Amino acid sequence: MIVEMRKSAKPQEIEDVVSSAKSLGLSVQLNVGTDKTVIAILGSNTGQISTDIFAVLPGVENVTRIMKPYKLVSREFNPENTVVKVGNVEIGGQRLVIMAGPCAVEDRTQLDEAARIAKNAGASILRGGAFKPRTSPFSFQGLEKAGLELLAEVKKKYELPVITEVVDPHQVELVSKYADILQVGARNMQNFALLTELGHITQPVVLKRGFANTVTEWLTAADYILAGGNGKVILCERGIRSFEDSTRFSMDVSSIPVVKKFSHLPIIADPSHAAGHYSLVPALARAAIAAGADGLLIEVHPNPKKALVDGLQSLTPSDFSRLMTELKLIAKSINRTL
Ligand code: PEP
Ligand code: MN
Repeated sequence: MIVEMRKSAKPQEIEDVVSSAKSLGLSVQLNVGTDKTVIAILGSNTGQISTDIFAVLPGVENVTRIMKPYKLVSREFNPENTVVKVGNVEIGGQRLVIMAGPCAVEDRTQLDEAARIAKNAGASILRGGAFKPRTSPFSFQGLEKAGLELLAEVKKKYELPVITEVVDPHQVELVSKYADILQVGARNMQNFALLTELGHITQPVVLKRGFANTVTEWLTAADYILAGGNGKVILCERGIRSFEDSTRFSMDVSSIPVVKKFSHLPIIADPSHAAGHYSLVPALARAAIAAGADGLLIEVHPNPKKALVDGLQSLTPSDFSRLMTELKLIAKSINRTL
C-alpha cells in the first residue's frame, strides 16, 4: 500500500509510519519528494492488514492499496478461463449457454410448458425460482419445497439441468438436493453466511451482482465461495441502480469485459431483471452476448399475462425463439456457437 504524508509532516511522524510497518514484518520504500513524502509499504500479506493502521497515524494524509482485495477469482491467481461443467453443459467455453424459464415455479403445467419451450428453442438449462426473495412480505414467496420437487420432476422429463435460487444459508442443504446450479440473488450478493455455506457444496453457483455493488465488491464476494473450496462460480450481471428510471435497472454491459479482464470466472447476463419490460429484453440480451458474456439467464413464460411474478419482463415463447435465432448470428460473428 501507499502512504502519502502531509506536506507538513514532521520527520518523527514519517519515522513512526516506517517503524509501524516494520513491526508488522513489512518492508518500506521511502520516497522523499520536494513537496511531500510518499511511503510504499510492501509485503506478501498486506491484503490482510487494514489501511486504517497507517491512516490513523499523525501526519498521514492518505493510504491507498495497490493490490486488488480479491485473490482466488483473479486472473493473476489463475490466468486460464474457468469452464464450469453441469452435466454435459459447459459454461465459459466456446459455446454460449442459455438458461431460460419462468421467474417462479407456479405449478406443474406452467413449469412443464416452460421447459418444453426452453428446450425446443435451444436453451440448455431451465430456470425457475422456488424460494423467491420478494421486496414485500405480502407478495408470492414461491412454492418452496413443492417447487423444488416440481423442478426435479420436469428436469428428469426434459433432461434439462435446473437452476434455482437459495435465499437462506440454512436451506443450502435442501436446495442442493434438487438443483444442478444454485443461484444467489442480487439482494444476497454480500450475504456472507450464505456464500460461506455455498463454498462447501459440489454444485456450481451463479452469483448475481448486487444492484448497488461495484465489480470489485462482487469479485471479492465470489472469493468467499472459492475460499470454502467451491471453484464452480459463474457471475451474472443483472443491472445496477442508477438515476435512470426508464428501465428497472441499468444493465452495466461494461462489467462484462471488466470481469473478463480481471477474473478467470465465467460471466453470464440477465437482461430480464435489468430491462423490466419484455420489449427491451432482446436488445439487452444481444448486447450482452456481443460484449462477451458466456450466456444468458432469461425469463420466459408460457403465458406472461398470467405470470404470478415478473410477467411484464418475461418473453413469450415466440419472442424467445426469435431471440435465439438472432443470438445465433451474433454468436457466429464473434466466433462462438449457441
Ligand atoms: C431472479 O432471477 O428471479 C431474481 C430474483 O433476480 P435478482 O436477484 O437479480 O433480482
Ligand atoms: Mn424474476
